[in-house]
Amino acid sequence: MSLLEIKKRISAAEAKAGRSDGSTKLIAVSKVQPNERVQAILEQGHRIYGENRVQEAADKWPAFREQFDGIELHIIGPLQTNKARAAMELAQAIHTLDRIKLAHMFARLAQEMGACPDLYIQVNTGAEPQKAGVLPASADAFIAESVALDLPVAGLMCIPPVNEDPSPHFKLLGDIAARNGLNGLSMGMSGDFETAVAHGATHVRVGSAIFGDRVPT
Ligand SMILES: *Cc1c(COP(=O)(O)O)cnc(C)c1O
Repeated sequence: MSLLEIKKRISAAEAKAGRSDGSTKLIAVSKVQPNERVQAILEQGHRIYGENRVQEAADKWPAFREQFDGIELHIIGPLQTNKARAAMELAQAIHTLDRIKLAHMFARLAQEMGACPDLYIQVNTGAEPQKAGVLPASADAFIAESVALDLPVAGLMCIPPVNEDPSPHFKLLGDIAARNGLNGLSMGMSGDFETAVAHGATHVRVGSAIFGDRVPT
């Protein structure tokens, strides 16, 4: 699918849901993609990108930033505590705050650096043992703890279980956000971004539909 086609589909989904045009941001997930593919999307004017791994992001994006203005980078993968500083230095948003130890690390570094990217708390909506994120039942308390640490919590993020209807997961995430007064909803990927828009996603994270299949590493 072309970038334009995806943007059109997002606009159509916004209109259908009675949402305003442009209320969903498209994060182009460039992890593991060859630089030529990323360059091509940058040349089409797109500026919001997502990366899973801090090291890969640090290897890839400084050079692109010399070439293109206004790049906004989102870290969307699980984050080790010892990578928190590098992630904060690189990214405008981090979508994977999922444990209190990481919240304390962000708080300490934010004090030291005088700035902090927008943070999204990952919620494990399907309570899958192998998946990161706070459990839905612990989400309210975790949000409160993070806010009490003065962290800039912009919203919530989820990755629904594969092979399940994502709708109940998107709805659950929206409900948790609403009752905690959070506006941001990072949800929806290549296979389900229109469904996510229908459920109020403010950020969809779309990789393979834009760039093509990921080349195995
Ligand atoms: C890889 C990834 C995506 C994009 O997945 P696609 O199916 O290629 O769109 C979105 N979110 C997260 C957290 C990812 O790791």
